[in-house]
Amino acid sequence: MTDAHTITVSASGVEAFRVNAGQTFRITDPEGGQVGDLFAYAAGDPEEWLSASHTRAVVSRLFPKPGEQFFTTQRRPILTFRQDRSPGRHDMLIAACDAARYADLGRPGHASCAQNLLTGLARCGIYSHAVQQPVNVFMDVQPSDTGDLTWTPATTSPGDFVVFEAAIDCVVVLSACPQDITPVNHGGPTPLVVTLRDSASQQNAPVFDRVC
Ligand SMILES: [Zn+2]
Repeated sequence: MTDAHTITVSASGVEAFRVNAGQTFRITDPEGGQVGDLFAYAAGDPEEWLSASHTRAVVSRLFPKPGEQFFTTQRRPILTFRQDRSPGRHDMLIAACDAARYADLGRPGHASCAQNLLTGLARCGIYSHAVQQPVNVFMDVQPSDTGDLTWTPATTSPGDFVVFEAAIDCVVVLSACPQDITPVNHGGPTPLVVTLRDSASQQNAPVFDRVC
């Protein structure tokens, strides 16, 4: 955390924070080429989370675009995708990197988005062993007409960002993907920056209290 309104997610690290309905958060890729694994849970109910599969069922798209919402396991809107100042590639198909993935790659014990998620949740008092499908912001996965997937290193430029608005009170976890073996993070893992913004009626809310 660098100040009351800005949270730096260190390279390969994680941050978790609470966002109230109507508040927005911006995720910036300051150096470019970095994927962020984004997770969101309904406040007060860790059994209700942003579900990529439910979202795909509602919006009938594979990948998010501005103006659309993300839905929970209870089919409630949880986040709205407000703005996209990036090449527009965000994945909702690929699982979070995890210990087994790195063991397969010959690097057991490597940091992972899966472990980052559980670490972030625990900071917010949510203890879980389940790793949900993330929204992989800035991750470029393209399907062909035959259903094959092509993975391309993240194409974001320094300063590219996306903005989300909470539709309900929620806990958000953002992992700066530590993948440094495959080229998904162009040039290697780098930080991400989260900027929390209040709605007009909540400008005096203590933002720092929301960082877990
Ligand atoms: Zn990852």
